[in-house]
Amino acid sequence: MITLKEALIKSNEEMIALCAELESKAKESGLNAYVGFQRSGVGVPILIKDNIQVKGWSVTAGSKILQGYIAPYEATVITNLKSKGMMAFGRANMDEFAMGSTTESSFYGATINPHGDNRVPGGSSGGSAAAVASGLAIAALGSDTGGSIRQPAAYCGVVGMKPTYGRVSRFGLGAYASSLDQIGPIAQNVEDAAILYDAIKGHDDKDSTSADFKIEDIANNLNADVKLTIAVIDSYVEAADADIQKEFAETVAKLEAAGHTIVRKELSNTKYDIATYYVLATAEAATNLARYDGVRYGTRAESKNTEELYFNTRSEGFGEEVKRRIMLGNFVLSSGYYDAYYVKAQKVRHLIRDEFNAIFEEADLILSPVAPSVAPKIGASESALEMYKSDMYTLGVNLAGLPGISVPVGKNDEGMPVGLQLIAKAFNEKVLFDGAASLEKVSNYKN
Ligand code: GLN
Repeated sequence: MITLKEALIKSNEEMIALCAELESKAKESGLNAYVGFQRSGVGVPILIKDNIQVKGWSVTAGSKILQGYIAPYEATVITNLKSKGMMAFGRANMDEFAMGSTTESSFYGATINPHGDNRVPGGSSGGSAAAVASGLAIAALGSDTGGSIRQPAAYCGVVGMKPTYGRVSRFGLGAYASSLDQIGPIAQNVEDAAILYDAIKGHDDKDSTSADFKIEDIANNLNADVKLTIAVIDSYVEAADADIQKEFAETVAKLEAAGHTIVRKELSNTKYDIATYYVLATAEAATNLARYDGVRYGTRAESKNTEELYFNTRSEGFGEEVKRRIMLGNFVLSSGYYDAYYVKAQKVRHLIRDEFNAIFEEADLILSPVAPSVAPKIGASESALEMYKSDMYTLGVNLAGLPGISVPVGKNDEGMPVGLQLIAKAFNEKVLFDGAASLEKVSNYKN
């Protein structure tokens, strides 16, 4: 597959022909990475996760409840990429409402990891990652609330980047947990990820949490030869499987040999990441998803009165994982539990952020695993809690609002990709991408 950089100098006719080719290849592949094949705009086709509005397209967030809903306006990221020689092409499969780590909870059925062996592609942006990894898309947009760009990128052997909270407009992104959600690129390499990030980033009046200060273009000045101070947290890495630990140790040695300074640090509050995230994310999700009541959006169930309308529409429209999170969210927000859970989690969130920031006083980047294992087999998650645990390395970045990037560094003995994550200080995407370019160079990963 040609890279995004190469595609940007091709003609529009060539790109339209490529779309037809991608559509037939995607249908033949059996991966179930795409759930639609519309085209909007002219230029290089970028695959769009099914929770980002493209005016006039259906947008379902992988849910039955949004079947039949057509986006009445365009997400800012789509407007932005259209002004940079790209177009929206195709809908990427995802976990329902971006809740999940495997893309198995989609109304359209599971996406398959292109590395074979009946593995999940990760989630929730699993369709985006699987498509880029298998040559079914040049690049894609995903969204990351607790790892949903970085983790599928790692499982599929591609690059996935979550920008600093506020760097990329959320206008037109179907909300899961608004204080954590960010849209970001999934691409074949670090340079392409930077090109796509450059295209979508920037202040937006339509998003009240959008950051309004100067930002630099990154792709044109990428420096893979920088020398940085990179923090590693040994106790954190020990929780990962042996194959991940091995890749991690080898990568640290390569980075050191390339001239980076490695410093050992501690992150003691990370043990609270999962609990904190699943209190806050479910609280926000319960609030955001209250709008799906059968009155205004998508599917409406048969009913005799208003109460029945809400009840039946939600019962039939939402999947099991989404219902679980709405229940959890309402529980932690309910009177009597609000202080014990929600308020406490907000306080711990600050502690987590402060701890990250203390490390960035002395280091440019933190290197960590993306997930404790390679992609699991389809159907292997024994319980919701098991799945939540696999988010341990990605959630803290969202809780602290930091930018992070997942870069493939190698494969385990079974041929499954291993990705590692770099994390930078808020709004320091330049250092993040330079570090990622260096990590990519020393790893020399081939898909
Ligand atoms: N796996 C996490 C969750 O289920 C993260 C999802 C995401 O980033 N959208 O909430």
